[in-house]
Amino acid sequence: MNITELARQLKIVTEDLKDILPKIGFDIGRKAIKVDDRLIPKIKNAYYEYRKQQSLELSLANRQTRIGPKEPSEQKSITIGSVVSVHDMAQRMGIPVSRLISELIKNGVMASLSDRIDFETASIVAEDLGFNAVQEVEEEHDTGPSIRERVDKNEELAEAVHPRAPVVVVVGHVDHGKTTLLDAIRKTNVASKEAGGITQHIGAYQVVVQGRAITFLDTPGHEAFKAMRSRGSKIADVAILVVAADDGLKPQTLESLQMIQSEGLSFLVAINKIDKPGADVEKVKKELAEINLASEDWGGKTLCVPLSAKTGIGIELLLENVLLLADVKELKGNFAGPALGTIIEARVDKAQGPMATVLVHSGTLNVGDTVQVGEVFGKIKAMYSWDGKESMSAGPSTPVRILGLKGTPLVGDVLEGGKEMKDFRGMKTKTHRLLSVTKSMAHKKSTSEEGGEGDKVLKLIIRADVVGSLEALTDSLTKLDIQGAKIDIASSGLGNITESDLGLAETIGAHVLGFNADMTQGAKILSRSSSATIHQSKVIYELIEYVSEKATALVPKVQKEVYVGKFKITVFFKKIGGKYIVGGVVEDGHLESNTKFHLIRGGEPKGLGDVYEVQINKQVVASAPGGSQPGINISCSRDPEVGDILEVFKIV
Ligand code: GDP
Repeated sequence: MNITELARQLKIVTEDLKDILPKIGFDIGRKAIKVDDRLIPKIKNAYYEYRKQQSLELSLANRQTRIGPKEPSEQKSITIGSVVSVHDMAQRMGIPVSRLISELIKNGVMASLSDRIDFETASIVAEDLGFNAVQEVEEEHDTGPSIRERVDKNEELAEAVHPRAPVVVVVGHVDHGKTTLLDAIRKTNVASKEAGGITQHIGAYQVVVQGRAITFLDTPGHEAFKAMRSRGSKIADVAILVVAADDGLKPQTLESLQMIQSEGLSFLVAINKIDKPGADVEKVKKELAEINLASEDWGGKTLCVPLSAKTGIGIELLLENVLLLADVKELKGNFAGPALGTIIEARVDKAQGPMATVLVHSGTLNVGDTVQVGEVFGKIKAMYSWDGKESMSAGPSTPVRILGLKGTPLVGDVLEGGKEMKDFRGMKTKTHRLLSVTKSMAHKKSTSEEGGEGDKVLKLIIRADVVGSLEALTDSLTKLDIQGAKIDIASSGLGNITESDLGLAETIGAHVLGFNADMTQGAKILSRSSSATIHQSKVIYELIEYVSEKATALVPKVQKEVYVGKFKITVFFKKIGGKYIVGGVVEDGHLESNTKFHLIRGGEPKGLGDVYEVQINKQVVASAPGGSQPGINISCSRDPEVGDILEVFKIV
């Protein structure tokens, strides 16, 4: 692009742009006329950052020169993006970071100065500190072209493109068998057995069918896939929509279909669980026809494969059909040049530091490459394929675990190869320790506003090993619907459970949850004397169940008397021990054993008792209908008499 055109787009004078470029790390020389197209998004980003910094410095300078005390009622405004670090926010407000941190803690958010909080959290805390937070309008061209556009462009420009493996995502309603199917497909791959059955979860795996590779996204709870999509990454080619043959189309099936259509994915329907007695494949096909997705044998175009993820029947056919769909798409990739990819999983390893799985879309990623991933950079120290084998390079459609990043990226971030370390001069690594500490706070606020007062609140502090699981877990927990109780995630983050987590848990009375997360040494020691409840598990559902149980236990049990019937005593038979045997008539409702009664005499309640046994014609019955004349065995707080009325009720 011409430098004058770039200046026009940035709405500044060309000469000024030439002055600024070296300051923001792009020393292209004053005589340059053109700028490499691939640098344009980077330059724009850096320029906008620079401008923001400038205005920030200006406002700080203004603040410092202001004389005299401020009006207490004065509401100051600060502008914040969708995410801000604690340090930046304090700077924008012109207050010490420690003051902001203590305000966050008061609100149940344990954050350090490098942690990032989202706008909602920031605005709540800002308000408490007398500021009015205004959300910054994102710059129109801030993010440059989407990853898909860039990959397409790379392919257009490539001298040669070669076939690449289809990238498949498995979607559908909960419990219809997505995880079981992904596991079953993984097991069909011979290569994994050769690698000693290594099945470390890296967010994706590959199988080989008819000599051709297929890449499956294997994200926990499939929530990570949603996260990637919400961050604008379009990374899959084919979707397998799983529908249980004994359940049919359900709300999440339809949601998945919407996603498939909006993403423009090819898809086929796996009609799963055909081994189950209630399975009805034709019924599923009928339901598909009703939404204009008739299967091929119903005269439509939808590929449907009946199968059982449990027994393995139909899986081979499913995979062959995935290849057919891929053939129709003629999927090709540019294997030359620097890599462009998407992060599908990220975690911090105790020994090795930040680790991420990247799915390469175009170009080739090599050990030794310098890469940028969102706000994180690094030099690839080592790479591992999904089955744990060391690898030196990864081309399009290949998932690979990388070591060497200086921080932990977010799922959905774009990885770019072909960088040089000098590109990152002055760039600080963000560690993303806390992802979103805030859902809970927004939730807390809405709780009181929505009149949910009186609801019991279960506070949680969550730690997980990888971004995908953390998102999946927090998402599932916030969706838990327990009458009379609310879940409040006071803090969530990656890595091990720390002493601060336990400290916060004690202060605010929260439970600490660890998903695949250990405790730091300090936390282990502290946990012996701490009153904080800690629950660790490697199974997401186990944690969800735990939270559900704890939240349910908070809700006070309400006991209610439920009216059963009215019984009038007409005969007093005998008293044995503390019990009485009387006869009478059921005047209203009915009579049941194991119930209670109020004894009414002269229209007044005079005692309380229990009905143990009911007999009609000397036969023990569970219940005697209205109008019948049973004999009953009861106990009572006073001696019953002929003419007394027993108002019988149950406690529910
Ligand atoms: P997801 O929520 O869609 O990932 O569903 P899961 O894979 O966790 O499966 C939900 C339940 O259905 C589990 O108990 C599975 O064992 C069971 N299931 C999955 N596939 C089959 C199948 O083909 N046949 C039968 N009988 N059960 C299945």
